[in-house]
Amino acid sequence: MSNDNCLFCKILDGEIPADLVYESDTAVAFRDINPQAPTHVLVIPRKHIATINDIEADDEAIIGSLYSAAREIASREGIAKAGYRAVMNCNEGAGQSVFHIHLHVLGGRPLSWPPG
Ligand code: AMP
Repeated sequence: MSNDNCLFCKILDGEIPADLVYESDTAVAFRDINPQAPTHVLVIPRKHIATINDIEADDEAIIGSLYSAAREIASREGIAKAGYRAVMNCNEGAGQSVFHIHLHVLGGRPLSWPPG
């Protein structure tokens, strides 16, 4: 399930350190190394899935678990009531730079819409 060339698989395997904030059977979350908001956490599946386009029907429970993680993290970070964004970029044109899907959970400041 893990991909030898994937940065986030290396974080899952403990080869690269990360500031972990959440773990479940299917998902792990850690603080973004280059935060764009006071809270900027990345939620990833333990299963290597490169992009949204690679999600399979059997992955639906895994994908749901990413949002359950986002909800829990937002609560812990104290941003649930004020509001936060949970967003996933797909492919280079949308800004994806790490090809292991991840939900960006951003909050702690006003967030404008639409994003650039
Ligand atoms: P994206 O551009 O949507 O693929 O998001 C990738 C995110 O991963 C960026 O926000 C990066 O700052 C973040 N990132 C890259 N390397 C690391 C790392 N080693 N630990 C934590 N976050 C990282």
